[in-house]
Amino acid sequence: FNEVPTGYPIPGQTMVYDTTPTIDLENVPLNGGFLVKTLVVSIDPYMRGRMRDASVKSYVAAFKVGEPLENYGVCVVLRSENSALGAGDHLYGMLPFEEYSIQTKPEKFGKIKNEHNLPWRVFVGAAGMPGQTAYCAWKEYAQAKKGEAAFITAGAGAVGSLVIQFAKRDGLKVIASAGSDEKVAFMKEIGADVVFNYKTTKTSEVLAKEGPIDVYWDNVGGETLDAALAHAARYARFIECGMISGYNAAAYPIMNLMNVMTKEIKMYGFVMTSILPKYRSAFYTEIPALLASNELVFKEELTKGLEGAGEAILAVQKGTNSGKSVVVVADQ
Ligand code: NDP
Repeated sequence: FNEVPTGYPIPGQTMVYDTTPTIDLENVPLNGGFLVKTLVVSIDPYMRGRMRDASVKSYVAAFKVGEPLENYGVCVVLRSENSALGAGDHLYGMLPFEEYSIQTKPEKFGKIKNEHNLPWRVFVGAAGMPGQTAYCAWKEYAQAKKGEAAFITAGAGAVGSLVIQFAKRDGLKVIASAGSDEKVAFMKEIGADVVFNYKTTKTSEVLAKEGPIDVYWDNVGGETLDAALAHAARYARFIECGMISGYNAAAYPIMNLMNVMTKEIKMYGFVMTSILPKYRSAFYTEIPALLASNELVFKEELTKGLEGAGEAILAVQKGTNSGKSVVVVADQ
């Protein structure tokens, strides 16, 4: 991480690829820690929020200028001086964007059992943080009733595409939006009833025709949230998962906030790490099996090598990614 951006992060400037070796793999002392090889790291929208001035407080620490970026990843243990872990263990947790690193805290990681033989990269996607976000918050907040209408934004993305499938499994009518015709076709494929490209069709017109909406899964905020407020049913639940339209741009003035009162809307803002402990065990019992049997489907956008991470970060912010963005650092 090289520089705090204003607006969109710039590959080669905000984040740079550094080829300086930092570890002598053969001789590096572990001092009670363990040496890991990174297999994959995830690229997620929230990383933009970490690219801020470190003095600004938020729910997650800022990246430090001059130090590697970090995010959820999967690694394999090569050597360990910690009795809790051994060579060959596959771990999921926060990793630096480095090919190899020495870790000291096993409790920061979860050992992956991989009973269904999924590719390791799936554990940062549908079987990882975005999957957990969709699963936990849908269960915790949707209060879904068969026949209700749900509106899901960024519906072709890592979180949104799973939410669409959870909503359909619960018997809801699903209205879903995304930013390209290819993404719109994918949302239809995975079962959404009404799909549209929000760049070419006005959200408020679709909701006026297909709403009112009982559940709104918000991944984008801004003008879309305002339209959802205008077309909410009485007692609607708004699941405030993300507001990506404001991550790189000035805030949009919300005009319809009074509907929260007049329609008795419940708005649930959440950070997934807070609700995960309640659902973690159910998630790992249920979701990897559904992914392995293709009862739940997902799309991935793979980048090979850390040198492409900067472009991948920008693509997720701009929406030119198609599916869960993952950097594959090593095959095994
Ligand atoms: P996605 O895979 O959906 O990628 C982000 C997508 O956001 C882009 O592909 C793009 O899709 C869309 N987008 C980008 N800019 C805009 C814009 N200005 N207006 C509308 N859509 C835009 O990411 P995830 O599924 O990983 O994350 C989805 C949301 O969930 C994000 O807001 C993220 O921050 C949030 N999140 C929140 C968590 C929590 O704990 N609260 C945890 C994990 C994720 P398109 O082409 O359709 O525009």
